[in-house]
Amino acid sequence: MIRVYKSTFDKKTLNFKLWTYFIGLVSIILITLWLLQIVFINSFYENMKMREIKKVGDQLVDQYSSESFEDILIEKALSEGISINILDDTGRLVFPLEFFDIIRQPRLETNTFSELLTNLYKSNDNTTLYTRADDRIEFPILTYGAILENEQGSNYFLYINTVLEPIDSTVNVIQNQLIIISILAFLLAIGLSVIISRKLSKPIVQITDQAKNLMIGNYDVDFEKGYYREIDNLADTLNQTTRELQRTRELRQDLMANMTHDLKTPLTLIKSYGEMIRDISGDDKIKRDYHLGIIIDETDRLTNFVDDMLDLSKVQSGLKSLDMKEFDIYKCVEKVLKRFNYFVEKENFEIRLNKKGDTMVIGDEPKVEQALYNIIINAINYSLEEKIVRINVEEIEDKWVSVSVIDKGEGIPEEELNLIWDRYYRGGKDHTRGKAGSGIGLAIVKTIVNAHGGRCFVESSIGKGSTFILQFIKSNNKKIDGDRT
Ligand code: ADP
Repeated sequence: MIRVYKSTFDKKTLNFKLWTYFIGLVSIILITLWLLQIVFINSFYENMKMREIKKVGDQLVDQYSSESFEDILIEKALSEGISINILDDTGRLVFPLEFFDIIRQPRLETNTFSELLTNLYKSNDNTTLYTRADDRIEFPILTYGAILENEQGSNYFLYINTVLEPIDSTVNVIQNQLIIISILAFLLAIGLSVIISRKLSKPIVQITDQAKNLMIGNYDVDFEKGYYREIDNLADTLNQTTRELQRTRELRQDLMANMTHDLKTPLTLIKSYGEMIRDISGDDKIKRDYHLGIIIDETDRLTNFVDDMLDLSKVQSGLKSLDMKEFDIYKCVEKVLKRFNYFVEKENFEIRLNKKGDTMVIGDEPKVEQALYNIIINAINYSLEEKIVRINVEEIEDKWVSVSVIDKGEGIPEEELNLIWDRYYRGGKDHTRGKAGSGIGLAIVKTIVNAHGGRCFVESSIGKGSTFILQFIKSNNKKIDGDRT
């Protein structure tokens, strides 16, 4: 069922406005029709008759010298349904003459003839047009008179008469028709206004409903098009707005989730070293100071993380470019590994680091550090009994510097290999280290590596382990351009 936006009697509704305009338009047309057809029809009729008879009279005056003038007179009288007479200067009838008229010699009544003469002499162009009453006829008579002159100058008078019959019966017929037309027109106007207003308001009502959904945070709305251009444009704008809103919301959520993930690991370290000080190194000043140093470092790192995450979210939204500098990625890995001393010392992890070739790269070091950190913490988290993580930093084809992080952990099923880089994707199995990951670590890695024009790969087999490879552009490499994944 079609829903109309508000009640029909709300003066601001489209329905009401259209209804008013339609009724207004129909009323104007009908009033004009009534005035023309009923009120002014008699004067229209009279004027029309006068114009007609004057036209015929003037034509006859012009044709007076024609040899067939008499025939023309007969033809005009018959075709126009009027009485045409020619009178001499005494008022005697010259045309038309019946057989007995030659003897009878009929003439115009003196009064009538003198009225004609008076009117004729008053006029400037030897013609006259006037209405007169006749006792024998109920209705007024329209009379045209003219002086007929030829070369001899002989004075004859053209005398044309037609009865101005009343048109009441015609008026009655028109009146009845107008009543029917008026009723039909009003009904049509009301019906059309309702149909059109519903057609016009339907998409508006729908868009309003969808906009309400948007208001309560449902971004799945699709503003429908296909009604008329203005609504299509509105729907396009609203669909675009929805997408922008959705993107903003996703970015906000990403930022929150990224921050949570990266805050968790340093917090774990702080807690672990705190416990170590309490349980083991509390009385040993050298060890305690060393552990406290790590706690302080991690706290600083936390602060940096928060700043970094804000920056990363800006990188993701393309608001801020990376602070690209030349640095040795091997040293960067060494720096990151210091943060994993806890695992080496407490959990007997063996982390082997190898270097091959020139390992200078171009990039934003803190961001690259963050990516490496995420890869290494994963290698540790997903390791099983064999607690060995190997890291190879090597130059490749004079173009790239690759960092491979190899673990002998649980491995990743083949069908998941493409998915793990997605935001919020977490592998099906429970994490070995019992840590609830957020599924963001690798998405951050990918974003950072991509932003550096680098590449990332993963190779893995179940039960044997995984190799994560990050490749960054070598600092002196000028060959790469557009070859980036
Ligand atoms: P999280 O570790 O918080 O779940 P990540 O984005 O870092 O999120 O990783 C996504 C998924 O990829 C993990 O849930 C896990 O299944 C898989 N994964 C990542 N690194 C490894 C690894 N070294 N070994 C095995 N699986 C891994």
